[in-house]
Order: sequence, then C-alpha cells, then structure tokens
Amino acid sequence: MACVSYPYEYDAPVSQTLFDRASLVTPGGVNSPVRAFRAVGGTPRFMVSGAGPYLTDADGREYVDLVCSWGPMILGHSHPEVIAAVQAAVARGTSFGTPGEGEVALAEEIVARIEPVEQVRLVSSGTEATMSAIRLARGFTGRAKVIKFAGCYHGHVDALLAAAGSGVATFALPDTPGVTGAQAGDTIVLPYNDLEAVHAAFHAHPGEIACVITEASPGNMGVVPPADGFNAGLKAACAKNGALYISDEVMTGFRTSKAGWYGVDGVKPDLMTFGKVMGGGFPAAAFGGRADVMGHLAPAGPVYQAGTLSGNPVATAAGLAQLRLLDDAAYAKVDAVSKEIQGLVTAALTKEGVAHRLQTASNMFSVFFTNREVRNYEGARNQEAFRFNAFFHAMLANGVYLPPSAFESWFVSTAHDERAIERIAAALPVAARAAAEATA
Ligand SMILES: *Cc1c(COP(=O)(O)O)cnc(C)c1O
Repeated sequence: MACVSYPYEYDAPVSQTLFDRASLVTPGGVNSPVRAFRAVGGTPRFMVSGAGPYLTDADGREYVDLVCSWGPMILGHSHPEVIAAVQAAVARGTSFGTPGEGEVALAEEIVARIEPVEQVRLVSSGTEATMSAIRLARGFTGRAKVIKFAGCYHGHVDALLAAAGSGVATFALPDTPGVTGAQAGDTIVLPYNDLEAVHAAFHAHPGEIACVITEASPGNMGVVPPADGFNAGLKAACAKNGALYISDEVMTGFRTSKAGWYGVDGVKPDLMTFGKVMGGGFPAAAFGGRADVMGHLAPAGPVYQAGTLSGNPVATAAGLAQLRLLDDAAYAKVDAVSKEIQGLVTAALTKEGVAHRLQTASNMFSVFFTNREVRNYEGARNQEAFRFNAFFHAMLANGVYLPPSAFESWFVSTAHDERAIERIAAALPVAARAAAEATA
C-alpha cells in the first residue's frame, strides 16, 4: 500500500533495517556506490516495485522516479509489452551459450538506427563496452595512449578511472587505489570542452595516441553538453593524427533521440558504446562502429573479446522490445515531459532566489547550484552542492526520487503523466525553499 501523506518521515525504518543487514554482508551496504546516499546523507531507500513513473519502497512509500534506473527505464517501470517479451523469452530458457536469433535482431535494430555503426558486438555492461572498445582501438592502431576528459565517466575500467565523474566525483576521489601507475600511465586526462588541450596532447605524443574517448554529451558530472564544434573538432583531430574517435553513448544512446546523441549532432565516430536504454532494464550493452575496425575482433580478427552471457536471450528480448516501442512519438513525449519539469524546476528555484543553472542535453537535464555556466568538471565542482542535498531530501520527503548526488543527470520517461508531474510541482516549492535556506 503506497502511503499518500506528505511529507514522509525523514527516517525510513524498514529500509534502514535492510541497509543494516546489507552492510554486514556487502561493502557499504550497496552494489554500486552512489546508491548508498553518502553524498546526501540519510538512509538509502530499498525499492520493492516500480510501475510507470513510480517506485515504491520497503516502507510502503511511493515516489515519482526521476532516476529511471540511471536511464534505462525510458518507458517507465514494468511496461506491459516489455514484461510480456521478457516472460515469453524466459519461458523458452534463459541462456544457451550458443548464438540465437534475438541477438541478431537486436544488432540489426542498432545498425538500422545508428548510421556509423556498421557492425556491433553485444556485451553485458557499459563498462565492458568501453573496456573492449579501447582494447580494439589499441589493437587496431598498434598504439597505447588514450585521451579521456576529466568528469567523463566510462564505467570502472582501470585505465579510465582517472579524474572520473559519477561516484568518483561524488566522493571527491581524484583517483582510486588498486589502479596501478602502469594501467593509468597511458591515459591522458584533459579538461572537457578544451580543443586546444587535445591538439597539444597530439602534438606532444606523435604517433602514440590510439583513441580519444568522450561521452557523446556528458551526463556523469551533471549535464555538461559539448560546446559547438567540440565533438567535430575531436573527430577532425583524430582523423588527422591516425587515432580513433570513440563516442561513449552508454547514457545518451537511444535516449537523447532515436539515434542517441549522434542523431543530435551528426558527428560520425569510428567506434561507439551503448548500454542503459538498449537493455530494457537488463544487463545488455554493446560497442560497434566501422566494419574495418570491428573486423579486428575475434573470431574475425586477432583482438580477443568474449562473454558467457553476451547476447543473453532474456536481456536481448527486453532490449529489442523496448527499442521497438521507442518511435518518434515516444521521443516527442519524453522531450515534452522533460521540458515541462525543467520549467517547473527553474521557476521554483528562481522564486526562492536560489542561484542555479539548469543545463540540458535533449531530454537529459540537471541543476547546478551556481550562477555560472558549467562547461567542464572544474565548473561542476564549483557549485554549492550543499544546497542540492537539502533540495534532494525535501523532494524525497514529498514523494520525488532524484539522483542522490549533485553530479548526476535526471531522467524521465514516456510514463511520466500529469499526476506524476503534479506531484513534482507540489514538491518543488518546498525543496527550493530548503535549498535557499541551506548552509554549508
Ligand atoms: C553508465 C555509464 C557507463 C558504465 O555502464 P555500466 O553498465 O554501469 O558498466 C559507461 N559510460 C557512460 C557514459 C555511462 O553513463
């Protein structure tokens, strides 16, 4: 039974009991750091079910979900057609360790939607996709060095955990123990949106740089879109210097348009990575791109890559069902919902005189508590994150579940209807006041 009286208590006793149990058997009580609420404080909510735009926690409280599982649930939770496809797939068996038609159909759907992808390999997580794309770029070019940008997150790949955003930004860890100097030594970390720095790096390391990897439009330091011409400049610098341009669309892929961020800016990458939306809530991800590059992958070529559950029939059925439902009308709906919520957020914060920047990348958006436009990770870190924490808890108490960190994108779905938007509109004035009154 969902509770309908607001505000909810600050304490969440059933979630707290589960968290106490979890903390005994799992480091920090969670299986992915940001879920632990360390940035915002308080008890992480243990969810028991999701339906449309709503999540229900173990204390029986209902929330409008603005995380959407960090992006994948673009049709809302428990979409009947996705659930039916999953149930049909499960009934046929859950894993065969052989090829199957579902993975062919999913690959065909990806290739049909995203013109730069001529061939694609399915994997089980975004981390695996970026790790494999980098290995392939190194194998293809015979070069070792990789350029990445501060604040861009590409999963927990050793070589890419240097000045990464997401959980690492939340915890203000510039780096992580366990990544050796050798693993990070071939990674060049540059400030985002700084083409001069990219040109200087190519100049300093002639013939050594295998690839540039970038989030197509970063969402892991909050939403910081590429400046005009930045992605095109990266592509040109790579082409000129014999390096591959890898666009990480794990977050933006199949979300920011039918063809992801590529559908927005049209800059053609050599390799791309996908995850989140394409799995329909299951572990499915992919990397793909130029056929001549992908042809270097085993068994067609010498670069090794494999996976016991890659192309899993249940995950591919979920992903395919979701992608087939994501037509032009669905994206128009997500974009409209996003715009409406953006307007409500800006109005509420403006009314309370809270300095803020709402930044968008198509239907992805986030709020920075600062007056200044945020163009890179340094700018993102200069916000008054303490205001977000007060804002977050007021939204939570009023039935809206935001990402529990000031450095994350917010996500909406086709299922966010008028009732859900009304709940957000009712919560926002309270949260804006909390943000205004917050002290560091
Ligand atoms: C989420 C994300 C990843 C990592 O994907 P996982 O499935 O969590 O391993 C990589 N790159 C980007 C841009 C992401 O947002």
